Amino acid sequence: MGDVYNFNWTDLGDLAVGRPNLGEETSVIVYRLMQYTFKDVLSKEIGKQRAVELFVQAGLLAGKEFCNNVLDTSLSFNAFIADLKDKLVALKVGVLRVEEADMDQLKFVLTVAEDLDCSGLPIFGESVCDYDEGFIAGIFEQYTGKKFTVKEVDCWATGDRTCRFEVKPIEG
Ligand SMILES: [Zn+2]
Repeated sequence: MGDVYNFNWTDLGDLAVGRPNLGEETSVIVYRLMQYTFKDVLSKEIGKQRAVELFVQAGLLAGKEFCNNVLDTSLSFNAFIADLKDKLVALKVGVLRVEEADMDQLKFVLTVAEDLDCSGLPIFGESVCDYDEGFIAGIFEQYTGKKFTVKEVDCWATGDRTCRFEVKPIEG
């Protein structure tokens, strides 16, 4: 993916220099405003399905970069997940829990409560955390060296109180 895209972690800038007074944090409203206006404009331009695919693709890139730059891939799986959980809370992304883990087949069910993308949204009747699907797949791919597919099966926007993701390797 590094061959395909130009993104580099340093592109995120030096916040200590650039925001000495305001610091690293912003509001969830500002984050969601960007995400959902982006999705709306892209959907009108290229169709909703394609826009969603691109959100997943961007999430995948973000997950891989996040894993490379923030997480420790030398840890055992359980320690890696514990570290991921801590980082996602520290960054106020959400509260991760591993609900099911099949280490032989590398199939997992994860939940994320108080999710940054969707918690508290109106109920649209469809899941909206496409970016998160890619983000989780990117982290798992970077950690295991295998490609993953991630499907959000429950979401605040479908009327559930937590997001639930099914994670499994892409066969072949
Ligand atoms: Zn969700």
